[in-house]
Amino acid sequence: MEPVRITIFDTTLRDGEQSPGCSMNVPEKLRMAHQLDRLGVDVIEAGFPIASEGDFAAVQAIAAVIRRPIIAGLARACRPDIERAWQALKDASRPRIHVFLATSDIHLKYKLRISRQQCLEQARDAVRLAKSLCQDVEFSPEDATRTDLEFLLQIVQAVVEAGATTVNIPDTVGYSMPAEFGELIQTIRQRVPGIEKVTISAHCHNDLGLAVANSLSAVAAGARQVECTINGIGERAGNASLEEIVMAARVRPDRYVYKTEVVSEQLFPASQMLSEITGVPVQPNKAIIGRNAFAHEAGIHQDGMLKNPLTYEIMTPRSVGVPDSTLVLGKHSGRHALNLRCEQLGFQFERRELDEIYRKFVVLADKIKHVEDHHLMELIRQTHGGRRIPPAPVADLPLAIAAAAGSGRDYPQKPLSFPLPAEFSPSGLPLNPMAEHHSEQEDYLWGV
Ligand SMILES: [Zn+2]
Repeated sequence: MEPVRITIFDTTLRDGEQSPGCSMNVPEKLRMAHQLDRLGVDVIEAGFPIASEGDFAAVQAIAAVIRRPIIAGLARACRPDIERAWQALKDASRPRIHVFLATSDIHLKYKLRISRQQCLEQARDAVRLAKSLCQDVEFSPEDATRTDLEFLLQIVQAVVEAGATTVNIPDTVGYSMPAEFGELIQTIRQRVPGIEKVTISAHCHNDLGLAVANSLSAVAAGARQVECTINGIGERAGNASLEEIVMAARVRPDRYVYKTEVVSEQLFPASQMLSEITGVPVQPNKAIIGRNAFAHEAGIHQDGMLKNPLTYEIMTPRSVGVPDSTLVLGKHSGRHALNLRCEQLGFQFERRELDEIYRKFVVLADKIKHVEDHHLMELIRQTHGGRRIPPAPVADLPLAIAAAAGSGRDYPQKPLSFPLPAEFSPSGLPLNPMAEHHSEQEDYLWGV
């Protein structure tokens, strides 16, 4: 079955930037936009031009130099916003005006203080105005998932008739459940006349940790655009995470027969750049791009990883731009991992010597969390023997093992040190950690 193409709409620079601590200045936004272009996203929502002079300048600057993707600017459903957005976007090679208006009763009553009828007219008029300026118009009924269904269907029909080319369904407050959100998308597809002419989009927030699940459910129900952000940044608990959506489809094409044009090897660089620019670190256990996403400490995992990474990895680190897996040397590490690390540091041991170092290592790892290289060197010094060999070229090994790798304290300023430090300069010594003969059982028993 031919995979269905999904449009990736990145809103890191708009919704993402609205999250606390994530604001970016114009040069920073421009730098990030270049990376999003390299990443291969289809749409970059560059900002909310009427919100500030800086936002206007950023949208204008991005529209001027980033020529491949569609550049979108956000506007409330009123003339000044739409005209300001168009001013910022008009030099883009592929501009899009993104108009939004809240449609739930709670927003109409307390925020906008307008009736449903006024809301309907305002949405239609706003889309008509935007359409008179720009061919590509997206409309979002804000808080769609808490909007009365019949009214939501009326609004969607009105904006489709007024010329919207994309209808985005936002779960603005992160309230929806995956099956429910999928049903909503399906109902819209079934009941709105003319909906087949436009692209249905999903915009999910992560307040219940379901943004990605909801987005995938929407895609399964017929949505063909997903709005998401790098590192899942965004208002409150964030938006759907771009890297998770992209990799879900890539790792499970049997369940999700969809493709994107995202260059997955650029995911980690994009994540790192965003952290570096905003100073907001990624949680260590964040899927796909977190520091621990490819780290293995437990001995049984490490041993399996050294024999064949497929034992514990469903995708390779390199496929998302992480140079290599990281085996963290801690008290759960096995002898195999310790030996490989020693070899990387330039020492090769006889079996008995390794046993002795390993015993000392386990005692030390029990006291301190992560055994770093200098600790290991001390243990090696205490142990007689050890044939000095040239340091191993880490990049050539099946797995890079770094003691206390990416040692979290100074992350994200020094997330993972690539290119590799000078002491790991390739020396050409072929090492084959798979060539050891000792029984697997021993690897597990030690350190537990
Ligand atoms: Zn949002």
